[in-house]
Amino acid sequence: MRLLGIILCGLFFTGCGSEVSKTVVSDENAAEQKYHWKLVTTWPKNYPGLGTAPETFARLVERMSAGRLNIKVFGAGQLVPAMEVFDAVSQGTAQMGHGAAYYWAGKARGAAFFAAVPFGLNAQEMNSWLHHGGGLELWRELYAPFNLIPFAGGNTGVQMAGWFNREINTMDDLAGLKMRIPGLGGDVITRAGGTSWNITGSDIYTAMQTGVIDATEWVGPYNDLAFGLHQVAKYYYYPGWHEPGVMAELTVNAQAYVSLPPDLQAIIEVAARAVNQDMLDEYTAKNNRALVELVETHGVELRRLPDPVLAELRRLSAQVVTSLAAETELTRRIAASIDTFKAQAMAYHVISEEAYNDARSAVD
Ligand code: CA
Repeated sequence: MRLLGIILCGLFFTGCGSEVSKTVVSDENAAEQKYHWKLVTTWPKNYPGLGTAPETFARLVERMSAGRLNIKVFGAGQLVPAMEVFDAVSQGTAQMGHGAAYYWAGKARGAAFFAAVPFGLNAQEMNSWLHHGGGLELWRELYAPFNLIPFAGGNTGVQMAGWFNREINTMDDLAGLKMRIPGLGGDVITRAGGTSWNITGSDIYTAMQTGVIDATEWVGPYNDLAFGLHQVAKYYYYPGWHEPGVMAELTVNAQAYVSLPPDLQAIIEVAARAVNQDMLDEYTAKNNRALVELVETHGVELRRLPDPVLAELRRLSAQVVTSLAAETELTRRIAASIDTFKAQAMAYHVISEEAYNDARSAVD
């Protein structure tokens, strides 16, 4: 028995030893390998928040990998136009992209579910659904045929309803309106009798100034001030019923991702998660300050959409979501997953976030 034990030990340690040396050799190779990647975005280079998030991501990855994974970030139009980011990463022209999923709704039906759903999940709920409620798995299933692996890449929080040159008192005021509003919100405006335009951020100001469009939504005070939208519209409406927390996305070309050693894959995952949260933190802090500047310095007229208008938009939004859900087996599962999660989140938030906000703002 003792002899057998020695033989087994010998076999074990021999096997173990060769495994260890093999692992060390492969780690050394992986540690020496340097990767130079390109990341294309749908935003102007270094645009506040949306454009700086991928830059922050690239710097984090470079630091955490000690320079082994170097990512060069391109603004919209520098390597590919904004609306070609999805295809560029899918085809491997660039290894990564940063944008918003609803821009690709025409390519991957259901992509809009992973950017913003009118009257849907807010930022906190979207992150919870994605990372702890099955959302990310559904998103990866949707993007897999396009050779893309998506990650959450930032969130704006609740946006503003947008900039208008006419007052919105009833639904009739939306009829015939030419509005820049992408995604499912755009489909709702179409159902309300307006027309929706999907115009790249940097072209919005000129489109408003020249009358190509009558109204536009963009993001919120911080970003809208940066584009000077208060110079081309009189009224600034809230709340952003159509975009209660737009999630930005980081996409990775599947082959490029698989070619990385596991530690660099983990670095991408963790850096994406950090940037995703950091964007929301940045927007929350800077929207507060920018709103004060818009109202007090620039005299912007803030308006709340009337309750009957919001009620009708909510009804039309439900129709739009139901219609998209009916398109494919996968869009049905995505919509059902969001619905279940939203019902639970709303029930709990009535006694947590909402009850707290009410208590906090109560007037004595
Ligand atoms: Ca928006």
